[in-house]
Formats: sequence, C-alpha cells, structure tokens
Amino acid sequence: MLYHSLKNKNHLVTFDKALLNGLAPDKGLYFPNKIPFFSKKKINEILKHDNYTIAFNIIKKYIGNVIPEKDLISIIEKTLFNFKFPLHKIYNKLYSLELFHGPTLAFKDVGAKFMSGCLEYIIKYKKKPITVLVATSGDTGAAVAKGFHNIKGINVIILYPHNMISNIQENQINSLGDNIKVLKIKGNFDDCQNLVKKSFLDKELIDKCSLTSANSINIARWLPQTFYYFYAYKHILQNNNNNVKIIFSVPSGNFGNVCAGLISREMGLPINHFIASTNVNNTIPRFIKTGKYDPKNTIATLSNAMDISNPSNFIRIMHLYKQSLSIIKNKMSSYYFNDEKTLKIIKDVKNKYNYIMDPHGAIGYLGLKKYINYLENKNKNNKINNYLGIFLETAHPAKFMDKMPKDIKNNIIKPITLKNVKTKRLPTLISNDFCVIKEWLLNNI
Ligand SMILES: *Cc1c(COP(=O)(O)O)cnc(C)c1O
Repeated sequence: MLYHSLKNKNHLVTFDKALLNGLAPDKGLYFPNKIPFFSKKKINEILKHDNYTIAFNIIKKYIGNVIPEKDLISIIEKTLFNFKFPLHKIYNKLYSLELFHGPTLAFKDVGAKFMSGCLEYIIKYKKKPITVLVATSGDTGAAVAKGFHNIKGINVIILYPHNMISNIQENQINSLGDNIKVLKIKGNFDDCQNLVKKSFLDKELIDKCSLTSANSINIARWLPQTFYYFYAYKHILQNNNNNVKIIFSVPSGNFGNVCAGLISREMGLPINHFIASTNVNNTIPRFIKTGKYDPKNTIATLSNAMDISNPSNFIRIMHLYKQSLSIIKNKMSSYYFNDEKTLKIIKDVKNKYNYIMDPHGAIGYLGLKKYINYLENKNKNNKINNYLGIFLETAHPAKFMDKMPKDIKNNIIKPITLKNVKTKRLPTLISNDFCVIKEWLLNNI
C-alpha cells in the first residue's frame, strides 16, 4: 500500500514514511493510493472473528509489509486490550456506539495507542529520538499522553488552548510527566494547530528535533478509527435483519472520525448514510449548504473537542468524493447545534431513557434525530421503518462534569481511571507566537 500527498498524486510513500512525516513535504495530507475493498462475503467472514482479528484484517491492507504480522498483532493487542465498544440501545431503532471505555475515556485512545505502537516499532533501529508534536482541543492530548507515556526514543509535546478544555482533560494531560511535555497556549485550538503545522515546515526544527505529528492528520492515528464501524456493524448483523439501512451520526471537529467512517463504507461496509454533526463552529454544515468554504473565528462551546473552524480532514473527504459538492451531499449530511440545544437534549434523554450523554455525543444524537425527521417527512405516506440510527458517543460524560447541569452531574458515576488522575504541575502560559514556540522547542528537546 502506498500513500500520496493530496497536493501531488505522484508523491508516493510507504506507510512508515507517511507515519513519520505526518504531513507530506508539500504540506499535503497523505491519503491511501487505493482504498482496499472487501466483498460482502469477505466482510461477513471477517466479522465472524474477535475484535483483534477484525482489526488485523482491516489494517493489514493499509500497512503492507512495513510491519511484520506478528509485530502488528502485538500492536493491535496493546491497542485494544480491555477496550470494549458496546452498542447501547437507547430505544428501538436508535443506538449509542460507546467509544469511551479506553484508558482516557475517549475514542482517541484507539488511534493514539495504535500510532504509538507503530512508531515504536518503526524507530527501533534509529539512533536519534523522535519528537511527536500534537495540538489538542482536549481529548487528543490526554489520549496521546497516555498512549506514548514512557515509550523509549519518543518525546511528546502537547499544545493546548488556555481556558478552552475541561478541568479533567487538563488534569489528564498534565498528570504523567516523564517524556510528556506540555505547552498551554494563549489562543484557541486552530492557533495550536497552526503552530504545529508551522513547526513541520521549519527546516531547523525538523532537522534538530525529528518531528512528527499525532493529530488525525497522521494516517496511523486516523486509519484505526475504521475498526469500530466494523464492530458496530457486526453487532447489528447479529441482532437485526439483513435489510436494515444503517445511519451513522458522528460528532465532528477535525472530521477525522467521520472520514474514517466514510472510508469504511468505501471498503465495502454497507452504511446507508453519514451525518457529520457539529457545534456552532459550523464551517462544514454551511459549506454543504452554500458551497462556500468560509471559516469564522472559533467559538468556545460545551463540546470543546469540536471547537474547530478549519477542520484538517475535510480535505480528505473532498478528495474521496472527487471535489464534488453534489456527491458529498449524497453521501453525507451535516448539521450544527448550539449549547442550549445540547444541554436540553442531555436532560431530555436522561429523563426519557435514563441515559447520560456527554456534550459531544449529544450533538451526534441531535444530528441523527434531525436526519431521521427529515427522512420521515420525505416519506410521509410510506413510513420508513427499516432504518437503524447510531450516534458515536465519543467521550465519557464524567470528563465534562464541570459543564453538566447539577441534577445530571450527581448521577454520573466517575470511572476508576478518572479517580486516579493526579495532576503534577500545570504548565505556564505561553504566547501564540511561532518564534516563541520555536525557541522553546529548540531549547527543550
Ligand atoms: C476529537 C473529538 C471529537 C471530534 O472528532 P474529529 O475526528 O476531530 O472530528 C468528538 N468528540 C470528542 C469527545 C473528541 O475528543
């Protein structure tokens, strides 16, 4: 399997190069040169196995011979160890795919741990340590810190926006120390992401620090996010008739997770429709409606991991659908919701179904309901029954305790992994100025 830069079809590299580079030298994102396809029969056969084997069958196609099978299996085992992906029924045709049962209680644990395993394997024979630079809107930082903690030969530097992540997320990021270093930036997530992108283009930094990224622009973090779409489908196959139309709603910020879902469908997974649900940082819903790509200033919301106005991965979706807005509209809808609606639906679903969603999952739920309403209105006389909606519950509600209404907060059971988080020292605030960051990096790596 080769990967090309989205800015140049002819710049082709293998998995290890794309993983190490993060971004191609021409600043393009990497994209698989050919998306592997599984026939219906093959998919059904793969899905007979356990989660480890399913993951192996999927990701092997993307890695080729770069990592030997036995090492790849061991990376997958470490990634998925004790990690469950339950599909929780809210009511008859609506499910929550819970992705928060990993070490930092967010879906990003899958990609972060998988990537750290691949990187560890690939740099085994290199003498020089490597630096993973990552911008976070909350959960990436925690997942990457945990996934890379104490891995030999790798330093991690996490940039996060001051006052724009939850207390628990901030504590998680700052709880480890050792090879995990943290910078708190005076700015928003897009500023952090820009600082990271600029660093990758700075010759002096690249040479001195051997930089790579751990954001979802990195293929090794992005591609394993296909696994759980397959797991959800397996569950549905086992519990429903074959003809049900599956709709996924994905709470989206940088659009990596939804893009992994779209890729899973291209691989042959029979998914009828996708909804990318966002908060009021709504560049993509507006783009899909008007055809104008017009990012605005980022606004802080309850669903802070999605406070992103210029989503990196959207360019991959454009590429997948040949830059055609009409194809995109056909394959995916995109809606946005404000904090008021988010809080209201968290309360409503708790009261009606006794299920507590986090603010991100709540946005996924709202998007799913909106699309289902649209479908039902369109088919008024011919009531559609054969759909099944799944929203991704991307983080545990306990991570957002400080933002939840009081009566809900009191009902959230804090998982043991959060109780054990002890913050060391919070980092000092650093200015959103590339020269300052560069200086810091050069002195601290
Ligand atoms: C990162 C994150 C998202 C957004 O995922 P993208 O892949 O960036 O679209 C949604 N919810 C939570 C809890 C997250 O941490």
